[in-house]
Amino acid sequence: MNEKGQRLIAAMVNQMDKIKMTTPLVEMDGDEMTRVLWKMIKDELLLPFIDLNTEYYDLGLVHRNETDDQVTFDAAEATKKYGVAVKCATITPNAARMPEYNLKEMWKSPNGTIRAILDGTVFRAPIIVKGIDPYVKTWKKPICIARHAYGDVYKNVEIKVPGKGKCELVYTGEDGQEIRELVHEYDGPGIAQGIHNVNRSIESFARSCFNYALDTKQDVWFATKDTISKKYDHTFKDLFQEIFDAEYKDKFDKAGITYFYTLIDDAVARVIKSEGGYIWACKNYDGDVMSDMVATAFGSLAMMTSVLVSPDGVYEYEAAHGTVQRHYYKHLKGEETSTNSVATIFAWTGALRKRGELDHNQELAEFADKLEKATLRTIESGRMTKDLALITSLENVTVLNSEEFIRAIRAELETL
Ligand code: NAP
Ligand code: MG
Repeated sequence: MNEKGQRLIAAMVNQMDKIKMTTPLVEMDGDEMTRVLWKMIKDELLLPFIDLNTEYYDLGLVHRNETDDQVTFDAAEATKKYGVAVKCATITPNAARMPEYNLKEMWKSPNGTIRAILDGTVFRAPIIVKGIDPYVKTWKKPICIARHAYGDVYKNVEIKVPGKGKCELVYTGEDGQEIRELVHEYDGPGIAQGIHNVNRSIESFARSCFNYALDTKQDVWFATKDTISKKYDHTFKDLFQEIFDAEYKDKFDKAGITYFYTLIDDAVARVIKSEGGYIWACKNYDGDVMSDMVATAFGSLAMMTSVLVSPDGVYEYEAAHGTVQRHYYKHLKGEETSTNSVATIFAWTGALRKRGELDHNQELAEFADKLEKATLRTIESGRMTKDLALITSLENVTVLNSEEFIRAIRAELETL
């Protein structure tokens, strides 16, 4: 046999050894530095081991612009169809991006579009590794923040009150029914704000939290300011409790997990004194603020994973950080970068494990465990990117560039 034939057979044998996938994973590519990492991760850590079966959607801004953003909608629909997706960070265009990418329109945030289609809740959890110590010394396990992603102050209307007068809140029903409440009698200039939410969204938020809790075997904590907000926040509390009692109580008992409600101020105090290891369900604003606090207190935004879970059990995994634009511009100039790929790797492992679970493909799920283990071992052995080197408690650290770090994980993976 000639050399070409031998190479072909070697390639076929190699292909046969790889882990097979039955159902495709929806793969959404993205932008800038994370797009560069995306390819490196696939080439070094996935393709040599898995006969990767993905349905590929290019959500890079260039292609979103070319398709009038249709690709984002198609990717979200495919996620609904197959049940599991993995997404790279993407640019949400602002004014500066218009000339940079020669955009036809200031396209909306892909995450917002996907979230609206899947009607999901975003769960964010830190990746815990020896040598990157939480600032809060009692925290031993991850605290997973579930943020309600609809309404409240993010869909508000506001008035700058110019002077003396009254402000009212008026509801007019389709049947003509009217409810009217005085907000305030102004005796001078001031401000007013109207916010809203809808039961349907609060209910799917509750179900997503309870489903994810059962999935990950963690307790759920939920908190609002229901003592002050006796209708608005109290409705959140009531709907959570009703849904829990009617649909989840027995399942939670069986799984040995609990649902716990308290006031938001009490929750904050308890979180700080806790060991971690639970899901903290937050209203939209609380989740926005608390997720940054929890991420920072655990060490680094580059070590946060994020998963969007819909109430009917569709999962989309990604890193919590953005496209790391500053590093990308350095990369374009040919300069060395030290960008942390851990959260993007964990987006892949999360998706592969979930695909494995759903398809009863144990080999695939085990590969995800192995890749996570190899990643953590690499860091724990003192080899890491610059962002982690700056905050680690380990001594004798080797700072690696973006590519070297991924290669170090590959070497570790080969030993498992
Ligand atoms: P970013 O990409 O999260 O980066 C902000 C800074 O955090 C970086 O400059 C870097 O600090 C540090 N950092 C974040 N991730 C890192 C990593 N993996 N390794 C090392 N350092 C990391 O946020 P941004 O620069 O504000 O946003 C850039 C683009 O991302 C924007 O166009 C935004 O729309 C988009 N974005 C997308 C998503 C998403 O798709 N989910 C989320 C957020 C933002 P140093 O520069 O100090 O090294
Ligand atoms: Mg925020």
